Amino acid sequence: MSVLVVVEHDRGAMADASLEAFVFARSIADQLGEPVEALLIGADAAGLADVCAAHGAVAVHHAPIAGDYGPEAYGMVIASLAPVLSPSGIVACGTDRGNEVLAHAAAELDLPFVANCVAVTAADEWELTRVQWGGSLNEEARLTSTLPIVSVAHHAVDAEEASAGATANVMEHIVELPEWASRSLIQDRVVLSEGLTLATAPIVVGGGRGVGSAEGFDVLEALAAKLGGVVGCSRAVTNNGWRPHSDQVGQTGTRIAPQLYIACGISGAIQHWVGAKAAKKILAINTDPAANMVVKADYAVIGDLFEVLPAIEQG
Ligand SMILES: Cc1cc2nc3c(=O)[nH]c(=O)nc-3n(C[C@H](O)[C@H](O)[C@H](O)COP(=O)(O)OP(=O)(O)OC[C@H]3O[C@@H](n4cnc5c(N)ncnc54)[C@H](O)[C@@H]3O)c2cc1C
Repeated sequence: MSVLVVVEHDRGAMADASLEAFVFARSIADQLGEPVEALLIGADAAGLADVCAAHGAVAVHHAPIAGDYGPEAYGMVIASLAPVLSPSGIVACGTDRGNEVLAHAAAELDLPFVANCVAVTAADEWELTRVQWGGSLNEEARLTSTLPIVSVAHHAVDAEEASAGATANVMEHIVELPEWASRSLIQDRVVLSEGLTLATAPIVVGGGRGVGSAEGFDVLEALAAKLGGVVGCSRAVTNNGWRPHSDQVGQTGTRIAPQLYIACGISGAIQHWVGAKAAKKILAINTDPAANMVVKADYAVIGDLFEVLPAIEQG
């Protein structure tokens, strides 16, 4: 038996989140004394077998279904192959896609699905710790299932370096999908931003209500451009129409994990914090020394952001 990783990709481009799923799956497989295997879904995923091998998969199963991503179809592929592959557990990363696909698979298999786990003790029963309420509390759960299906909370583990040169057996599986499995189809794509995004940028310069206006973000844009980062914001900002929702960091925005998050004029409400806390380092710039963001940050500058940011940029 093995622990099966459902690999997330977009038209054949591996999502970094998949590497987190491999790390998590390896920790479970080690406890069970079993290997890790990978499942690639979609004809365009064929080229990813070597990356899967490099991240620990001894076998790669490929279901070359036609067409773009579809949650029901991907879920149906997993459900169809589960009895064939008989894994001890199925793991994906808890991104929107990862959770969506595993939820469909679990529903099809009539099995429970535990999303957004941060720790697993795997034995006859699996004991899990998972994040709830947008990351503001951890829940301990015991999973009784013939086939545990779990996702690892995005950014809960670091994606480790691959061992280049590893190889895996690649097995192709033809899965016949019912017509209903193509209910949700991607018909069109709109590129909202080219290059770096909030989710991938190494540096994010975030602005909150303290920035005061849409024009006030010019100084944040200038610093972000100088540092090779992007601008993010709080919900107070999007509510005021100063920035688009695609820039929002937080529970109802994007969860970021940059090397450095510079939070300017942001109080650090829990709904913002859960989206920012995976940053490796946080620098808060705020006039209020008692602001939650200041208290939780690695570094803080107490002062007016319109004085501090130009000073950093020129420094
Ligand atoms: C269901 C739900 C979901 C939510 N989801 C999100 C979410 O995804 N993301 C999110 O951000 N929020 C979210 N919120 C809103 C959240 O609760 C806060 O209201 C919001 O984050 C506050 O934004 P803020 O920190 O910019 O504003 P404020 O809380 O008003 O803080 C402004 C800060 O700016 C400082 N400041 C003022 N002037 C200056 C200056 N010149 N220089 C330096 N500092 C200055 C102040 O001291 C203060 O700390 C959500 C709320 C709910 C109920």
